[in-house]
Amino acid sequence: MPLSTLSRDGLRLFAYCNRCTHNRAVAVAPLIERLGPDYPVPRVGRRMRCGGCGSRDIDTMPNWNDRTASGVQGRFNYPEWG
Ligand SMILES: [Zn+2]
Repeated sequence: MPLSTLSRDGLRLFAYCNRCTHNRAVAVAPLIERLGPDYPVPRVGRRMRCGGCGSRDIDTMPNWNDRTASGVQGRFNYPEWG
């Protein structure tokens, strides 16, 4: 999935650190400006650094919670992210 799909669907990018579990949803627009709309979502993590521990072992994926909040998949329950 490219970054442009997240932008179209109004989803943010969810980033998760595999070392310290630090995680955060980030806005997609600045990423598209830097990496382009066709950049694959799973590869964005290779360009990020964890704000908690400095690790570069970051997983990135669509932040599906944004869709839940807008009611599109409202009948499913998702875990809350601290
Ligand atoms: Zn970390």
